[in-house]
Amino acid sequence: MPHPNQYKSNLRDLSFLLFEQFRLDELLGKEPYANWGKDEVNAVLEEAYGWVQKYLGPYNRSGDDEGCRLDNGQVHVPGGFKEGWKALFEAGWRTLAVEERNGGQAGPFSLAMMVEEFMCGSNTSFNMYPALTQGAADVILTFGTPDQQATYVPNMYNGKWAGTMCLTEPHAGSDVGSARSQALRRPDGRYDIRGVKIFISGGDQDMTENIVHMVLARTPDAPAGTKGLSLFIVPKIRPDGAPNDVTVGSIEHKMGIKASTTAVLNFGDSGGCIGELVGTVEQKGMSQMFHLMNYARIGVGIQSLALASSAYLNALDYARDRKQGSSIKQWKDATAPRVPIIDHPDVRRMLLDMKSRVEGLRALAVKLTMHLDRAKAIERTTGDKTASEYHMGQVDLLVPLLKAYGSDQAFQICATAIQVYGGAGYLKDWPVEQYCRDSKIFSIYEGTNHIQAMDLVGRKLMQRGGANVQAFGKDVGTFVAANKAHPVLKDAIAVLAQAMEALTGTGGKFMQWFGGGKMEMVPAVANRFLEMMAETTLGWLLLDAAVIAEAALAKLPADHPDRAFYEGKRYAAQYFAFNVLPGVAAKAQLIAREDRSVLDIPAASFAPA
Ligand SMILES: Cc1cc2nc3c(=O)[nH]c(=O)nc-3n(C[C@H](O)[C@H](O)[C@H](O)COP(=O)(O)OP(=O)(O)OC[C@H]3O[C@@H](n4cnc5c(N)ncnc54)[C@H](O)[C@@H]3O)c2cc1C
Repeated sequence: MPHPNQYKSNLRDLSFLLFEQFRLDELLGKEPYANWGKDEVNAVLEEAYGWVQKYLGPYNRSGDDEGCRLDNGQVHVPGGFKEGWKALFEAGWRTLAVEERNGGQAGPFSLAMMVEEFMCGSNTSFNMYPALTQGAADVILTFGTPDQQATYVPNMYNGKWAGTMCLTEPHAGSDVGSARSQALRRPDGRYDIRGVKIFISGGDQDMTENIVHMVLARTPDAPAGTKGLSLFIVPKIRPDGAPNDVTVGSIEHKMGIKASTTAVLNFGDSGGCIGELVGTVEQKGMSQMFHLMNYARIGVGIQSLALASSAYLNALDYARDRKQGSSIKQWKDATAPRVPIIDHPDVRRMLLDMKSRVEGLRALAVKLTMHLDRAKAIERTTGDKTASEYHMGQVDLLVPLLKAYGSDQAFQICATAIQVYGGAGYLKDWPVEQYCRDSKIFSIYEGTNHIQAMDLVGRKLMQRGGANVQAFGKDVGTFVAANKAHPVLKDAIAVLAQAMEALTGTGGKFMQWFGGGKMEMVPAVANRFLEMMAETTLGWLLLDAAVIAEAALAKLPADHPDRAFYEGKRYAAQYFAFNVLPGVAAKAQLIAREDRSVLDIPAASFAPA
């Protein structure tokens, strides 16, 4: 049974970020976004927001209640999902940023990701199926042969077929390189695939005619580790109509995203599973998968933002409505009128904490995706290599921040939202308990958050000889220099400058450790460093938004309805600067102490085994 939609987003914030802070309009009306103007972008946002409330939101809680069902080897999705799938592809939402020649609308990626926020937020489980399908189709489009592109991509972009990503095996989770699935060359150029993959999202369902599995496997003479992996297209039904030997071993019963199938898939149990190598060269599987994973990690960041945002907005509405206790100013008077809980300082603290983190994360998501849009625009027009390298470098640097900090925050924000509700938040009557359960997986899949932190400190900081991180520091420095005397925000901007200094100092410490035989310290503090960098970034972007808001406020009449929105930007930035950003310098001090407790404690000393 459908339930009334409970999903909420903040269209005013989306429009502020796209147009006032990150100036998407500079790119519109010319290549490669020649058919797009501000009106079209705003219309898409409004229409998509209405669409998800009608087609996806009502099936979020019912999907959680019903879950998926495995019956005779076939997985059945909950009620409303088949209709949602059909309507989704009819509306064309999945192809907003796909090139026209591939059947899409060639829109900005930043816009597509804001629509993605609505899709994930209104029904996280449902959106897993089309999002993974798009990822799989993009890989075939980027690396497949012309034949593979023609056979698979159109059917996946139009929703006739779905797609999955099959990396994980029972003994190969974070350690993808130890995957054992095999691919044996056949005389006809195809491969016999054998192996077991676990935890496969969308591994089976009854919404599409076919499912195209993207499977990492090893050819017999391939070297050990990730280098030896190749990527294969293994459809449930082969293009000639023959069923492939792919069976569902079981489906998992989970804490959250219950309406998203998580399946054990057996490939070639009866010796009849045939796959095609993606492209023509073996052992390129990991780099091909990485291409998909970069986008998938942005997708997880958007999932995180989406649930955090809806949790915040639902908690806000509840806090405006629920009356409890009297004002602190009348605490001695038992007859004083009861006030809405939003009047209590601690509830306001929780709400402002959530607001600043959600709006900071959304700013990070829009910044990141706008770098992609700008890089594409440069490549298609001036071809300025230095400029496009700058933008792509910032994308590389920001992806682990959005994925890992975003997902950790999402779970925390959903938990805080439950706290705002009190006991009601713990009940299924309100959406926040499901959000909290659904959001926990975000810090685990697509590479656990520690894998993201190691990617940041072990790879991204050193990329292009450190040029990406230097450019990041320069951008923050330019902002600080331009605004350090700001009449309203100067004190907050001084805290940002201190955070940036602390971050740079810790980066230097890592260099000493790498060079001075203390490398094992790096993984012990990598997650903390990622948090420092993410908080510095959010603080910067919130303050940048506040500077823009102050300028807008100076021009607005005292009774203008938009004043409250802009004032909210000021308060969010100041709260974050004075309550979260000082933690960056504190964390730098902790790291500088070189505490070795986690390294030195013997395994037996945690507790008796
Ligand atoms: C609901 C759900 C959906 C999923 N969907 C998919 C999917 O569609 N396709 C797919 O292929 N997989 C999927 N996965 C699998 C997911 O990507 C893995 O669970 C994840 O990569 C972690 O692997 P693991 O569970 O084996 O944990 P492990 O790798 O065993 O990790 C356990 C803990 O140890 C830590 N750890 C592991 N190795 C190291 C190391 N070298 N250094 C430091 N710490 C380490 C981890 O960070 C983690 O905290 C899904 C999982 C779930 C639960």
